[in-house]
Amino acid sequence: MYEQIKVYEAGDRKPKPLDEDLRFGDVFTDHMFMMDYAEGVGWHDPRIVPYGPVSLPPAAACFHYGQTIFEGLKAYRGPDGRVLLFRPYDNARRLNASAERLCMPGVDEEMFVGAIEQLVALDQDWIPDAEGTSLYIRPVVYATEEHLALKPSSTYTLVILLSPVGPYYRRGIAPTKIYVETEQVRSSPGGVGAAKTGGNYARCLQAEFRAASQGYDQVLWLDGRERKYVEEVGAMNVFFRLGETVVTPPLCGTILPGITRDSVLHLLGDWGVEVEERKIGLSEVVDAHDAGLLLEAFGVGTAAVISPIGLLHWNGKDMEINEGRTGEVTARLYDALTGIQRGSAEDHFGWIAEVRLR
Ligand SMILES: *Cc1c(COP(=O)(O)O)cnc(C)c1O
Repeated sequence: MYEQIKVYEAGDRKPKPLDEDLRFGDVFTDHMFMMDYAEGVGWHDPRIVPYGPVSLPPAAACFHYGQTIFEGLKAYRGPDGRVLLFRPYDNARRLNASAERLCMPGVDEEMFVGAIEQLVALDQDWIPDAEGTSLYIRPVVYATEEHLALKPSSTYTLVILLSPVGPYYRRGIAPTKIYVETEQVRSSPGGVGAAKTGGNYARCLQAEFRAASQGYDQVLWLDGRERKYVEEVGAMNVFFRLGETVVTPPLCGTILPGITRDSVLHLLGDWGVEVEERKIGLSEVVDAHDAGLLLEAFGVGTAAVISPIGLLHWNGKDMEINEGRTGEVTARLYDALTGIQRGSAEDHFGWIAEVRLR
């Protein structure tokens, strides 16, 4: 049905780091997947090759006009030795949505997930199994045409990398300190905020750097039109528990449609927690804090899973949340999601795809 993936195995295998030394995204496995696209030909030459540098002409379109998109998901080693992926078809669909927005070619969903499975199976010895560790999977598509006129590239490459990772924050799931950014914005209506594309991250670096140099872990982004409404926290979707209701901003094209966000909405609904997807003014959050009703806040995304927020800094004012401790709903979500992802809790939702190891 698809072109067979050719496998060129690495001669030398690299030493693997100890589970306790793992950070985020600084070690790569022995192999990577690659596939090329050309207009009129389509995707072709799928192959698994030793991990290493790629060669591109300096005129390649990706260096100049930002036609790059990526994805992020994880493989987990279950207690029974099975290898599990979490909702990989949702990543395939989102990659294709990002591709469409950036005038890039989509990838067949079955082909995409099949490539991930074959690569993960080959490098399965790299999957760590200590608590909080996993094998992070990073697909990226970039434009390769050697051409400086501004137009969509006619050629592209898809690469899939694997990286064994530890907890996203060195301190584990300790609550984070968040700086509310009131000057720069991450995205605006009509833009590319809903696409996982490189430019969305480059534009965030300066504000994130400034926040970090003042001792904050992440930036809370406000909307690009009025700088009034909450959008995302770092590269995570954000939730607030106001009294007994949990609220999160709606998907209106300016925020990334997170798969963790969607999973959290399903879990909360399943537990009978009242949830609202709606615009949330920062003033509403501040008022709730002052009234003692801002009970919990947390960011959600594949890398950190659930990241509690212990403090919000806004316009010179520090607002502590839940005395800087991880909240009850936050902790319950973390346990429930990581339990499903590692295969130690039942998967009622059909989110898990098991990797065939041989
Ligand atoms: C990837 C990402 C998220 C989280 O998406 P998940 O599918 O849950 O990993 C949220 N916001 C931004 C900006 C992202 O890039």
